[in-house]
Amino acid sequence: MKRITASIITGIMIFCLSACGSSNTEKDSSIVSESRDTQTSEKTKEPETQTVSESSQTEETQADESRPEDGEGSQTVEESQKSGDGQDEEENQDTDENQNTDENQDTDENQNADEGQGAGESQDAGSSSAGETDNDSYGDGQQIGLDPSWEYAEYAKITSGEAVMYRASSNRKGIVVGVNAGHGTSGGESVKTLCHPDGSPKTTGGTTGAGAVKAIAVSGGMTFDDGTPESTVTLKMAKILKSRLLAAGYDVLMIRDDSDVQLDNVARTVICNNVADCHIALHWDGDGLSYDKGCFYISVPDGIKDMEPVASHWREDDALGQCLIDGLSACGAKINGGGSMSIDLTQTSYSTVPSVDIELGNACSDHSESALENLADGLVMGVESFF
Ligand SMILES: [Zn+2]
Repeated sequence: MKRITASIITGIMIFCLSACGSSNTEKDSSIVSESRDTQTSEKTKEPETQTVSESSQTEETQADESRPEDGEGSQTVEESQKSGDGQDEEENQDTDENQNTDENQDTDENQNADEGQGAGESQDAGSSSAGETDNDSYGDGQQIGLDPSWEYAEYAKITSGEAVMYRASSNRKGIVVGVNAGHGTSGGESVKTLCHPDGSPKTTGGTTGAGAVKAIAVSGGMTFDDGTPESTVTLKMAKILKSRLLAAGYDVLMIRDDSDVQLDNVARTVICNNVADCHIALHWDGDGLSYDKGCFYISVPDGIKDMEPVASHWREDDALGQCLIDGLSACGAKINGGGSMSIDLTQTSYSTVPSVDIELGNACSDHSESALENLADGLVMGVESFF
């Protein structure tokens, strides 16, 4: 009996030793193969990314070649101000330039998205501190101009206009959403403002080009395929979004409440910094494509993430952008690629509250009332998930 027991124990020991040994061996070999895999995938990854970029590059280049001069030849100018004729907006050109030149764009976007999600967890602290701004003193319907004592106000050049505060009447959240209907500043294209508050040059290309220190104060915007100016649609969108946000209990700061507001992109941003808890600029992209490419937000490029105030705020900017894209996606809106594109914008370069330029499509996108209402639902859902 003892002999049998001893042989069983011996058998178990031998089995254990061999099992442990083989396990170690397997482990070691798996480490080797893992590191090999990593090396291999790193080596193969690069060309793959390039291939993707190249095809995107080709597509965008073709689009550029066939691209009409935005606004030119547009007979149906609905707004009385026609300053946008023949002018590309800075952001849109940036978009194209960025796709053409930034070969690592896809990688960057993924990184941004990941970092943005991580930042989403910590941005609660940021948004509550944003709530500490003294914005309760503004009454419903009050017009709010640029206070020259506000930080960065001295960098604004077009400053005579006023934003308008709208207060929710019920279900009050105590949060002010800055809604910025893109474009709509007559004369904005003949004025230039510093791209960055520290005077450093732009890190991504555009009308003014990478390396330029100054950019167009407010561009005219693109024109939809049916001849409607972008600024008309962004205002319509802003008004629909305003009513949805108010119904949901959010106060709304309308940066542009009419066809024109004499506030440049710096002034618009500084007002939001001081009066709102976030800043959402509404745009449609002037990419010249012949199909609706869907929605995306402009994320902050790596090149300016060490520059203040960007360094302290880009995470919350990207987190807000991701929330908006998620909301739009949940409402069935078409999303372009990963939902973001990194571009060096005046807006985010001066923002000290969560701030996003959201591109809701392009010239081919449906901008009917029902389409805009659907987009508004998505944006409200995004705002609700952010705060
Ligand atoms: Zn625009």
